[in-house]
Amino acid sequence: MLVHICCSVDSHFFLEKLQHDYPDEKLTGFFYDPNIHPYSEYQLRLLDVERSCKKLGIDLLEGEYDYENWLQAVRGLENEPEKGARCEVCFDKRFITSAKKALEIGENKITTTLLVSPLKSQEQLKRVGDAFHAKHGVEFIAVDYRSGGGTQDQSRVTKEEQLYRQDYCGCIFGLTMQRDQQDKLMDEMFSPISNATLPASIEERLAMYKRRMELEDAGVEYKIIREKFLNYRQLNFKVTEGKNKVLPAYALSYSTLPRKKAQGKIEFESQNVHYFNREEIKFISLDYFNELCQTQYQEIHELIFNPPSLEKELKIREIISGSNYDLSPIIVLKSLLDTKLDIYLDTKTYEDVKEKLIIL
Ligand code: SF4
Repeated sequence: MLVHICCSVDSHFFLEKLQHDYPDEKLTGFFYDPNIHPYSEYQLRLLDVERSCKKLGIDLLEGEYDYENWLQAVRGLENEPEKGARCEVCFDKRFITSAKKALEIGENKITTTLLVSPLKSQEQLKRVGDAFHAKHGVEFIAVDYRSGGGTQDQSRVTKEEQLYRQDYCGCIFGLTMQRDQQDKLMDEMFSPISNATLPASIEERLAMYKRRMELEDAGVEYKIIREKFLNYRQLNFKVTEGKNKVLPAYALSYSTLPRKKAQGKIEFESQNVHYFNREEIKFISLDYFNELCQTQYQEIHELIFNPPSLEKELKIREIISGSNYDLSPIIVLKSLLDTKLDIYLDTKTYEDVKEKLIIL
């Protein structure tokens, strides 16, 4: 039987149950989910599915990440709610490809781990699966592992196995609606030009889940815990001299400007920190930044495209402001000017939760 897999939280429990209920069946996992966006999230879910299948001794095949085809398939249905018409097309696409894969490897039965997801309609899945059986002759096995306490058992397994728990279904359209309803920033979609790993980003999680695989291979005991913290994203930043002359500038992380705009002049300097006459803004030169950070940036562009770690930036902020909780803008310029400057800074600071790996 070919088992289409959407994520480890659904697949680990589901595959264990299948192994128990179909002891004579050779199960092959098939990770085919081009609906998952962004690609780093796809990689993260795949990584955890690989770990889960390895633990259960199940072979795993990876389908093609044909995201553009998937987008074409759901075109016009972008604004459909979850469990609506877009999801039906999304299931269809994944079923059809899974069924073709089943035929290709000589299997005549398929099922999907989507059947255990409380967010999915079993009826909808069954309808799509049965229609497919009638047309292509590949039998859809619609097991119900949700009722009779199944959902609770699944949560227990998820916790015991420390599986990666994503908090959205997968596609950008569902995610957009979810974040709108939650009135939450869609920070999954941030991708800085510097390629820096942002706090609590998918990239940070991906690195952590890779690390846990290394620890497991080395037999080191660990736990993944959750921590509340103040997160930050920079959406837009610019410093101009006059209205139009843009100056190369870098705003340290956690720089915030509530009104997003400030106009003024540097008023005075004390111990290499230059104080602006508006909005508690501070400026430092690139040389002083290099001194504090022990770096050798020659130009601001180098700093923009290859910034130091967040930890280093926070240390600099602490040295300059004397506080861990400072949110004032700290701006680095190649050299300081005493002319009128315009600052545009659009950011978000928000309470967030991140996962952390601790060694026991
Ligand atoms: S919400 Fe989930 S099932 Fe529905 S279209 Fe998006 S990824 Fe597919």
